[in-house]
Amino acid sequence: MDQHSRALDRAHHHALDWLSSLDGRPVPPQASIDQITQALGTTLPRDGSDPAEVIDLLVEACDPGLTAMPSGRFFGFVIGGTHPAALATDWLVSAWDQNSGLRRVTPAHSAVEDITSAWLLDLLGLPSGSAVGFVTGATMANFTGLAAGRDAVLGRAGWDVAERGLTGGPRVRVLVGAERHDTVDLVLRYLGLGSPELVSVDEQGRLRVDTLESALADASSEPTIVVLQAGNVHSGGFDPFTEAINASHARGAWVHVDGAFGLWAAASSSYRHLVAGHEAADSWTTDAHKTLNVPYDSGIVIVRDPVALRAAMGVHGPYLVHDEMGEPFDKVPELSRRGRAFPVWAVLRSLGRSGVAELVERLCRHAATFAAGLDDIPDVTVLNDVVFTQVCATFGSDERTEEVVRRLLADGTTWMTGSTWQDRRVLRISVSNWSTTDDDVERSLEAVRKAVVGL
Ligand SMILES: *Cc1c(COP(=O)(O)O)cnc(C)c1O
Repeated sequence: MDQHSRALDRAHHHALDWLSSLDGRPVPPQASIDQITQALGTTLPRDGSDPAEVIDLLVEACDPGLTAMPSGRFFGFVIGGTHPAALATDWLVSAWDQNSGLRRVTPAHSAVEDITSAWLLDLLGLPSGSAVGFVTGATMANFTGLAAGRDAVLGRAGWDVAERGLTGGPRVRVLVGAERHDTVDLVLRYLGLGSPELVSVDEQGRLRVDTLESALADASSEPTIVVLQAGNVHSGGFDPFTEAINASHARGAWVHVDGAFGLWAAASSSYRHLVAGHEAADSWTTDAHKTLNVPYDSGIVIVRDPVALRAAMGVHGPYLVHDEMGEPFDKVPELSRRGRAFPVWAVLRSLGRSGVAELVERLCRHAATFAAGLDDIPDVTVLNDVVFTQVCATFGSDERTEEVVRRLLADGTTWMTGSTWQDRRVLRISVSNWSTTDDDVERSLEAVRKAVVGL
C-alpha cells in the first residue's frame, strides 16, 4: 500500500505540474531523442529501485522531450487533448485493472459499456440496435467494421471466410474516395483485400457519386465494399452519404463510414446536416481520442448487424454465444483489454448532451476564426470550405508555405502541420482540443502573422 501511495502521489504531483505548464511552455519538444536517451541512461540496472524514485527519474529526464499535445494551441494532425473527467477516469482504469473481455466477470465495466454504447448511438444518430466495440483507435475500428463487411459480402456470395479463408474465394472489390485516410489502405492489407479502387473526388475531397455509380455498374455481381468518409483530414469535407449509400446498396455493397473525427457532427443540431443520411450505412468508425478528448487508446466501431460483427470477431462460432448479449471480446479484435468504456462514459456524463454539442460547435467556431484571420493576411489563401474543424492554407508558393511551417515550429507558440493537399504544400490547422480558448486562437494567429513578416 505504501509503495502505491508514494508512487501515485509522485505521479499526481508531476501530472499537475505538466498540465499547469501547458499554457506557458513551447508546444514543440525542446529535447531530441538522443538527449532524452542520455538523460535516462541505457543500462538496465541489476537491482531494482523504489517505484516513486523511478517516477521522479522518468519525469525529470522526459519532461523536455514532451510535446505539448494537450495544449490548447496544438493544432497538429487531427488529435484531441484530454478532458479532465476522461483523464482522471483513465487513471482509475489502470488502478481498477479490469480485463473487460468477459461480460459477467467485470459487471461494472459491462454496465458502463452498455450505457455508453447506447449514448454513443444516440449522439451519433445511429440505429439503436447496432453493436458497439471499444477498440484502440479509428484504424482498428476501420479494420473491425471492414472485417464484418468482408465476411458479410463473401457470405452472401456463398463463401464462408471463417471456414475457408480468402484463398480461392471470389474477389472482393473495395471502392473508396481518392482522399480516404491512409489507414484505410493499411487495414485492407490486414484484411487480405489488397489495394482499393479509388473513386474520384471533388475539389473538397468528397467522393463523386457519378464516378461511384459507374464503378459500381462494372462487374456489379462481385462482392463489394464501399468506404465513405465523414471528415476529410484536409478539408473537413463529408462524402454525400444519402446518394452514395443508395447507389451502393442498390448493388448489394456493404457501406462503411470512416468518421474518426467527423462523425461527431451528428451530436450538434447546427452541424448534423453534414452527416445527413449516414445512418443508412452498415458500419461506422469514430475515435473517442480525437473530438471527444479521451486519452489514447480509444476508438469505437459500430456495426448495424450485431451477428455480422460477432461472425467476424467472435472467438466462438457466431451462434455459440454464452451471454445472450454477446461477450465484449466478440466485438473487437483483442481478447484481453483495459476498461475502455469508463473514460468515454465519464466525458459524456460530464459534458452532457448539450456539452457535447457545444464542444463540437466550439471547435468549429475556432476553425472559422482561424480561416477569417488567415484570410486577412496578404498572400494567404484558405483552400478549403471551412465546414467543420479543419483549415488548409497556402502562403502563395510551396516554398513560402514550407518556410512558414518551419518558422512556426521554431517560434513554438503553436503547432500546425505542414502537409500536402491536392499537390500543394499547405499549412493545416485541426481544431480538436476541448481546452482551446479564443485567446489560444488569437495567440496562434499572431504567431502566423509574425511568421510571414519579411517572407
Ligand atoms: C485519425 C484518423 C484515422 C486513424 O485513426 P487512429 O485513431 O489514429 O487509428 C482514420 N481515419 C480518419 C479520417 C482519421 O482522421
